[in-house]
Amino acid sequence: MSINSSKDDPDLGGDGATAAGFARLDSAPFPSFDAGTVWLVGAGPGAPGLLTLLGYHALQQADIVVYDALVDAEILKWVRPGVTVEYAGKRGGKPSSKQRDISLRLVELAQEGRKVLRLKGGDPFIFGRGGEECQTLARAGVAFRIVPGISSGVGGLAYAGIPATHRDVNHSVIFLTGHDSNGEVPAGVDWGAIATASPVIVMYMAVKNLDGIAAKLLEAGRAGDDPVAIVSNASLPGQSVYETTLGDAGRIATEENLPTPAIVVVGHVVGFRDMLDWYGEALRENRLG
Ligand code: SAH
Repeated sequence: MSINSSKDDPDLGGDGATAAGFARLDSAPFPSFDAGTVWLVGAGPGAPGLLTLLGYHALQQADIVVYDALVDAEILKWVRPGVTVEYAGKRGGKPSSKQRDISLRLVELAQEGRKVLRLKGGDPFIFGRGGEECQTLARAGVAFRIVPGISSGVGGLAYAGIPATHRDVNHSVIFLTGHDSNGEVPAGVDWGAIATASPVIVMYMAVKNLDGIAAKLLEAGRAGDDPVAIVSNASLPGQSVYETTLGDAGRIATEENLPTPAIVVVGHVVGFRDMLDWYGEALRENRLG
């Protein structure tokens, strides 16, 4: 079996790019995307190739796509011609007054009898408000399906050569958000427990508040020399990784103007980058990942 490489079609758009291999998938027995339903699809951390096959199938069926800020534009080119692509993103942990509007918009579109694809960055159920959107759909009696995606806190780290778990380091991992609904360091978090419960802490939306978060972890007894990596634009051509320590992380985040979106990871898994940093400059020319 041969699949055309993306180099054959620099534009990546339309049906041409991967037709030979993907034509077979188009006729595969995927679940049917019924009119009047909503599919919440995770787009993955960034690189378009990290979309799942079910996600790809959904894009081939949908008649409207409602997408978030962190969804790569290349993925949106895979919709059928003429399909409406509607932006519903927000960035930076602003108060979520708009969230209700987005959820209600999904209900409205479904009730118009459309096949509604709600496309979200990473995984819809990891710090993506996918649960909230599904609750609104459920209350309105709108049928939905979740298509999980590769979360940036796992797949994004992989692109930085950082395994989220490694037997020599950790048997557990914590996923933490650095924002509460007001954009502040989350207050309802037991920082003492977070600091000591797992050797590895993976933080989403944490750059802006990293100073405060690092201070909380240090105060709770986490070691100042614990390694930290800040992985920006993971899996994308502009990916960059800043390595520091917990003791310095707050200052770095304040002074360095680090690019976002970024995942912050604390723990000795960061050290594996020395050997495992595989996503070099040359590979970034592959725009699918
Ligand atoms: N549902 C998403 C997370 C949404 S919250 C997921 O599962 O990945 C948004 C946060 O995700 C950003 O603030 C950042 O911390 C992280 N993120 C998303 N895409 C990223 C990327 N390409 N590189 C680094 N971090 C990313």
